[in-house]
Amino acid sequence: MIIMKKDATAEEIEHVIAEIKKYGLRADISKGQFRTIIGLIGDEMRVPFAHLAALPGVKEARMVETPYKLISREYSSPFEAEGKGYIVRVGNIEIGGDEPVYIAGPCAVESQEQLFKTAREVKRAGAHILRGGIFKPRSSVHSFQGLGSLGQNEAEEALSWLREAGNRFDMPVMTEVRGETQVDLVAEYVDILQIGARNMYDQDLMAKVAGKGKPVLFKRHFGASIEEFLSFAEYIAAEGNKDIILCERGIVPVGKGKSLTRYTLDLAAVPVVQKETYLPIIVDPSHATGRRDLIFSMSCAAIAAGSSGLMIEVHHNPAEALVDAQQMITPQELKEIIDTCQKISQVAWRR
Ligand code: PEP
Ligand code: MN
Repeated sequence: MIIMKKDATAEEIEHVIAEIKKYGLRADISKGQFRTIIGLIGDEMRVPFAHLAALPGVKEARMVETPYKLISREYSSPFEAEGKGYIVRVGNIEIGGDEPVYIAGPCAVESQEQLFKTAREVKRAGAHILRGGIFKPRSSVHSFQGLGSLGQNEAEEALSWLREAGNRFDMPVMTEVRGETQVDLVAEYVDILQIGARNMYDQDLMAKVAGKGKPVLFKRHFGASIEEFLSFAEYIAAEGNKDIILCERGIVPVGKGKSLTRYTLDLAAVPVVQKETYLPIIVDPSHATGRRDLIFSMSCAAIAAGSSGLMIEVHHNPAEALVDAQQMITPQELKEIIDTCQKISQVAWRR
């Protein structure tokens, strides 16, 4: 990390960047109100510390120990202050701003009718962003894998429904990409690319997704520590894409016997992540609990904990849902959650 002097000139900054490139390293520039910090990306062994520290305009060349320096508060001077964070903008929606953001929609896109009905109703309930899975990660090969698995034509058709539903009901849309081969196609249709929990460790997928320059919803793996979660989010930032929305979705439950919830929602991850990084983090109570009777309470708790938003699975008729029916709520239930969470945020976020 190269910390420039407060009065460093644009030429001095350019010179440092040129030197960094000469050594086969990449530069990530963070311009704060008072000073510029330049992050070096590449092999640590190749960094000529003494040389860089002596360049005109340089205050300090520092080795940062954290594996997620580019997204850390320590690195990014504009967001050093606790409580202030980076805002990811999608259309006119702000994630990480003053109000919670609600992402809702079915687990899987099942038909045009199902998607449009659900989209209309979640919009009316107060949702900002529409979700819908087209390529579904499933535990069993015998389960419905999403329309995307049926072939290229089916995938494109489902993607075009998602786009149309977003346009018609005025919501940005989001879907998961499970493999590198899907990225180009999906990016043509959606506003936010989702990387699912199972793919949190897939560096190649992340690089490809990040390269599209669109916001990325990045879910925590159910076996990942917070440090691993942030270290892998760093791969997206290292591609030059800081529009990352982190998502806590539960970790593996411990002990023998039945856990009674699908995963264990790690709500402390929310304030911890906010202390470590300036990126926004949201919570997915649907996959975390796997139980519709827990979505209301866990949503309220997440917003009280400071979550910048929620991602909730909603179906216009939950009993008919082809995937994750047990955790699906109705649009009316979503409305009750949003109405209550708005009040909670007004009280709890004042701090
Ligand atoms: C999803 O959000 O559709 C999903 C499959 O969640 P996760 O990757 O967290 O299991
Ligand atoms: Mn689901």
